[in-house]
Amino acid sequence: MDFSLSPEHQMVQKMVRDFARKEIAPVIKEYDRKQEPIPFALQRMGELGILGICLPVRYGGQGMDYISLGLACEELEAVDTSLRVAMSVHTGLCSLNLFQWGTEEQKQKFLIPLAKGEKIGCGAFTESGMGSDVAAMTTSAKRDGDFYILNGEKMWISLASKADLAMVTVKTNPSARKASDGLSTFIVDLHSEGVKTGDLHGKLGVRAGATGWISFTDVKVPVANRIGEEGEGFKITMSGFDHGRYTVASGATGIVRACLEASVKYAKTRKTFGKPIAEHQLIQEKIAKMAQDYEIARLLYSQVGWLKNEGKRPTRETSYAKKFATEASFNAAAEAIQIHGAYGFSDEYDVERYLRNSKGAIIYEGSSEIQSLIQAGYALGERTDKPLRCELPAYDEEYWQG
Ligand SMILES: Cc1cc2nc3c(=O)[nH]c(=O)nc-3n(C[C@H](O)[C@H](O)[C@H](O)COP(=O)(O)OP(=O)(O)OC[C@H]3O[C@@H](n4cnc5c(N)ncnc54)[C@H](O)[C@@H]3O)c2cc1C
Repeated sequence: MDFSLSPEHQMVQKMVRDFARKEIAPVIKEYDRKQEPIPFALQRMGELGILGICLPVRYGGQGMDYISLGLACEELEAVDTSLRVAMSVHTGLCSLNLFQWGTEEQKQKFLIPLAKGEKIGCGAFTESGMGSDVAAMTTSAKRDGDFYILNGEKMWISLASKADLAMVTVKTNPSARKASDGLSTFIVDLHSEGVKTGDLHGKLGVRAGATGWISFTDVKVPVANRIGEEGEGFKITMSGFDHGRYTVASGATGIVRACLEASVKYAKTRKTFGKPIAEHQLIQEKIAKMAQDYEIARLLYSQVGWLKNEGKRPTRETSYAKKFATEASFNAAAEAIQIHGAYGFSDEYDVERYLRNSKGAIIYEGSSEIQSLIQAGYALGERTDKPLRCELPAYDEEYWQG
């Protein structure tokens, strides 16, 4: 067993860390306060190759492995969640799912510009009336010759107003015996006639991220844009969540680390009762918990990255990593505020933003309750992973970089 990072992994880590610390950290408070996305962030992530980090060079990516994707997400979210959310939806829900399920023509047409960051992607599944119960969606598509006609509205979609393309799952067969068999997935050009998008305001966190809605009114989507077969939409959506949850887990690990670093720094300088608060054992206990949770979260997401590299489906392990890291990040942020005392309660320090940002990840991409159901299903022997028609390809350095 080898837990070390390769020189390539360390290079990715450094490149993303430098970008986040030098270009994002100085302006993040301003945009978080204004509740606006940093205007240059997506473009820079594209230019630096971060958006296509783990995709083969032949498809416009950087040819790195899946562990690199986790490392990049950890570095991004250690500075701000809005950047990691972009990775979750652009790279996780959209590009990687297209890489897994798309035809060669679809990869040539859509994946290459996505991986290069020339086009921005998102994943649109949630609606105003449903989130956890994916099969209950009502947005529909009806076949009409060489097209499908889409109608309905998706809600709470990250990058809705910024994306060019969306991986969208809709209902194609409302009378399917099992509701989940009645769904299909499409890649939709958001500049098509009949598509409208907008932003939601007043969010608790991820305020420098665009979260919005997409409405479809008689939108004509070519049959050639259907991902997989008709009726495979539920499986494809769940595959997307495997990728997205991995990015959420590794990103939340970055929040734990950021809380730990901020707490250590503050605890060494703030004095009470004649000594630095770092010397009070109750403060040490909080710091020790953050340090321990960071290690656990990192190991859990590294395991997922490794399984992905091996071509083994990590749905169960991804669920552990996602639930553990997101809950640990929320707890770490709450304790980091406590360590900072009144200053932690103000936006002079970053820790209040970490707390606001960490809550969303306990809700999206499968809430903690849904993760518990998944984990109990495996533990009780009621859930097993059957092979999929299309699996995510195992990492092969020669193919990826060729
Ligand atoms: C910042 C942000 C960004 C998002 N980005 C996207 C995106 O890019 N694309 C997208 O499609 N969606 C996105 N979402 C939506 C997100 O995926 C949903 O909010 C999530 O799936 C939960 O759905 P819901 O909000 O409808 O809650 P509901 O499904 O209505 O659940 C409400 C509560 O009940 C619990 N619950 C539900 N079912 C059960 C059960 N069987 N047993 C026990 N408890 C249960 C849930 O855990 C939750 O606590 C985003 C949400 C947020 C907050």
